[in-house]
Amino acid sequence: TIGMVAMDAAGNLSGSCTTSGMAFKMHGRVGDSPIIGAGLYVDNEIGAATSTGLGEEVIKICGTHLVVELMRQGLSPEAACKAACERIVKRNKGNVKDMQVGFIAINKQGEYGGYCIQSGFNFAVCYGDDHNELIDAKHLMP
Ligand code: ASP
Repeated sequence: TIGMVAMDAAGNLSGSCTTSGMAFKMHGRVGDSPIIGAGLYVDNEIGAATSTGLGEEVIKICGTHLVVELMRQGLSPEAACKAACERIVKRNKGNVKDMQVGFIAINKQGEYGGYCIQSGFNFAVCYGDDHNELIDAKHLMP
């Protein structure tokens, strides 16, 4: 999945995502990306979030809706993304050895963050000038 969340010069939030789905997926499978509140959610009063990885797990926790609701309760984007990853790990009783899910989020203040279950997930931050950064997302598993 390639997911994007953005804030424009007026402070409006938006988001988008695109995916090829999982490799060798069952015909007719619907992943998280096309489901609002799973792979993508934007509330222009609070924040925006998108996800990547094993979509079935994201759907089961309404992942990006959860991230935005946690930001509504005052969590930072990174803390909200982390909490959503922890929810997935808990649902699976810690059996997440080969499972990767990652979230990125931005809030109405323009703060952003990301978190993933396994290492190896990067996200780019573009400030609209020449200042871009590639960030190694923090991860839950060692
Ligand atoms: N999230 C996508 C899906 O489950 C897979 C991906 O990250 O590309 O369909």
